[in-house]
Amino acid sequence: MRQLIAGNWKMNGLVADSLSLARAVADAAPGLACDLLVCPPATVIRPVAEALAGSVVAVGGQDCHTHANGAHTGDVSAAMLRDAGAAWVILGHSERRTDHGETDTLVRAKVAAAVGAGLTPIVCVGELEAERLAGREQEVVGRQIRGSLPEDFAGVVAYEPVWAIGTGRTPTEADVAAMHGFIRAELVAHLGERGQSVRILYGGSVKPSNAAALMAVPEVGGALVGGASLVAADFLAIARAT
Ligand code: PGA
Repeated sequence: MRQLIAGNWKMNGLVADSLSLARAVADAAPGLACDLLVCPPATVIRPVAEALAGSVVAVGGQDCHTHANGAHTGDVSAAMLRDAGAAWVILGHSERRTDHGETDTLVRAKVAAAVGAGLTPIVCVGELEAERLAGREQEVVGRQIRGSLPEDFAGVVAYEPVWAIGTGRTPTEADVAAMHGFIRAELVAHLGERGQSVRILYGGSVKPSNAAALMAVPEVGGALVGGASLVAADFLAIARAT
């Protein structure tokens, strides 16, 4: 399966900057051997999607509500993301789990809402540093997988150790291999044979200098890139490392 390199722009990007970043990615995309996705803030999904129409670069949101519409001030539904031009959505990112108290149960409901609206979900899981130091990383990630993914899950999982996000630190390749192998086994246990075909991305301080090594680890199906996805040259260098 082709690897997927996904950019999580987080809360960064006004229209002009977003369009130049998206166009730079799209211009280089035809020569690349991976699938490409950019996830801009909700306010610029439509212009970015319009600029990328006809390119191979897909567009996604960073979160969605569980409901299609209603009295939920400030929230954005999956149907609205879809209407704006998104085909994907990141769900359960650690910043959502921390800043907004999102639980596995809520993430699972969001997955159902996303799929119902025609979006492909990328569900993020990952342990805190204290949990890894206590040797509990598989217990935590296993619980997140079973809690966040419905039994009919068809999407992507991103393993993002929380302590590696935005810190410049990454797990060793052996640790990534161990966790991705564990996640694969959990997916098969939870989803049956379908669990074999779920792409498992690695995320957390992926940059041009470490991308080739991380993308060569068994069971790594691509990367979810935060900071480095805001610089076209860096994002493209990561994509070239697949
Ligand atoms: P980072 O973020 O690449 O800046 O560490 C990754 C993410 O949060 O998805």
